[in-house]
Amino acid sequence: EGGPVRIRKALDGLPSYRPGRPAAPAPGAEQAFKISSNENPYPPLPGVLEAVTATAGTMNRYPDMFATGLVAALADRFDVPPAHVATGTGSVGVLQQIVQATAAEGDEVVYAWRSFEAYPIVVGISGATAVQVPLAPGARHDLPAMAEAITDRTRLVFVCTPNNPTGAVVRRDELAAFLRRVPEDVLVVVDEAYREFVRDPEAVEGIDFYRRHRNVCVLRTFSKAYGLAGLRVGFAIAHDEVADALRKTAVPFGVSGVAQRAAVESLAREAELLERVEALVGERARVYDALVAQGWEIPHTEANFVWLALGERTLDFAGFCETAGLVVRPFAGEGCRVTIAEPEANDRLIRLAGEWRAG
Ligand code: PMP
Repeated sequence: EGGPVRIRKALDGLPSYRPGRPAAPAPGAEQAFKISSNENPYPPLPGVLEAVTATAGTMNRYPDMFATGLVAALADRFDVPPAHVATGTGSVGVLQQIVQATAAEGDEVVYAWRSFEAYPIVVGISGATAVQVPLAPGARHDLPAMAEAITDRTRLVFVCTPNNPTGAVVRRDELAAFLRRVPEDVLVVVDEAYREFVRDPEAVEGIDFYRRHRNVCVLRTFSKAYGLAGLRVGFAIAHDEVADALRKTAVPFGVSGVAQRAAVESLAREAELLERVEALVGERARVYDALVAQGWEIPHTEANFVWLALGERTLDFAGFCETAGLVVRPFAGEGCRVTIAEPEANDRLIRLAGEWRAG
């Protein structure tokens, strides 16, 4: 009974965030692999799991709202003041806090496209206008064009490095030149969800830019290299006024006690986790070389995924893989993003990609 509830116009036509589908075993395939969400294939470290289990006993209580222990550990790890660390429910949660803190109707947010699919969603929800700047050849950010796109209305810029879903990084000299052209009251977010997988010495290290520029904010996550995607912990490192604003726009108690504890314990075991990252980087080179040898043209990747620009054949390739027990991430009409995972999944990807080229 009754008419429809009025929903804000800004939400018209906005997609909701689409997760990668769970892997269902394919007929004939022993095991299905989900390589569609850039997850870490390794199970939690035993020490992290034990700490989490112990902390779970306090779930009748709210967690520490400001994640004091985690913030202190991060401040120590990155050598920044604790006041410059703000946490959120995954880095996508922090992204939402950032947009809420800086942009609303009438404002503009500049970012490269194709890039992380949450950008248009979080900007769209705010009512601000998204200004998408096409990637340059090599699927890289076109920072000169992004600088051109900045107007009096620009309040926020996202720089995704390595870029999801193409894997390309922004070089230090490129970001330095870009920042010289950005007004100092415009916030530049360096989204480094995949930073731990980067081996290119010329690639941006966001924290170095944060130290020199008051309008630079670094966005990081425990979801990828640290393997805590299911617990939703992300954080930003930013200067006083930005970090303060991120604490104001956070969902109260948004990072659970279990998640806080897992993140702290993961930082304490970082060396072990980074060994796993190193193994994945090795697998990345193996997959990349094998696919290039098959004739695929792939942008250079510094992340835990590779981009297959399949154009009109994107959905066909995704379907072909799924039938063989491999769930990849298709972006219709553009390409498939495939995550570097355990060797067996990578082997299957190499085999299927080869069959596809041969067929
Ligand atoms: N930034 C980028 C570039 C990403 O690819 C992702 C995850 N797909 C995120 C942020 C968000 O990850 P999370 O919310 O799990 O931290």
